Amino acid sequence: MELPIRTRTELETMREAGRVVAAALAAAAAAAVPGAKLAHLDDIARTVLHEAGASSPFLGYQPSWAPSPFNGVLCLSPNEMVVHGRPSGRRVKEGDLLSIDAGAAVDGWHGDAAVTVHVGDPRPADAALRATAEEALAAGIAAAVLGATLADVGAAIDAVVRRDGYAHLLDHGGHGIGRSMHESPFVFNEPTPDGARHRLAAGNTIAIEPMVLRGDGRYRYKRDGWAVYAADGDRAVHVEHTVAVTDDGPLILTAA
Ligand code: MG
Repeated sequence: MELPIRTRTELETMREAGRVVAAALAAAAAAAVPGAKLAHLDDIARTVLHEAGASSPFLGYQPSWAPSPFNGVLCLSPNEMVVHGRPSGRRVKEGDLLSIDAGAAVDGWHGDAAVTVHVGDPRPADAALRATAEEALAAGIAAAVLGATLADVGAAIDAVVRRDGYAHLLDHGGHGIGRSMHESPFVFNEPTPDGARHRLAAGNTIAIEPMVLRGDGRYRYKRDGWAVYAADGDRAVHVEHTVAVTDDGPLILTAA
């Protein structure tokens, strides 16, 4: 099955959106100091998007499974949360591990990326988990080359995560991206038969996002119906980039 092929102009616009995403993430990450409110980080990112003339695909987003429209421009998922945490009055503390996920749209084209940051000094076990997740993301990106399949991308991510004895968040992964933030196909974090059916060509754009857990990958939803947390309550790391497949190799559209 073929993924959509973006023109050079479309990729340039997605790169613009990606730069806004990177700026929003950097601003929020810099403000993630002990005592900072999650809602304050979201306000900072809103300002970045607003000043860039970009819109937020997160704000008001309500997929079929969600009980309410999303309330921010960032997903902020501390500690036990893996993804989809809502901005709130919760304050981050020294030693917290915070996933920050941002999206932006420019002229109808989208970027989506996430970082996980330590609040204050990292716990060694958290630093190790983060290093693995970042290496897995880099491996997945490096595998997104002409002629490879999405199963190759998944296998590259999976090899790093398994090597270090961690698990993937079950039932979650990356996705196609372009005119919408979430497009088919799924970009699984391990090799699958579905992934093997999608061969990559120049101009394809995908969001690659390892979600790495110390436990077995099982999860539950918070009472708000949005935030996904590890069933065993242990910590997780989530990192993401939007990537274009090009004749010259993978291009990270959400790089700073
Ligand atoms: Mg995504």
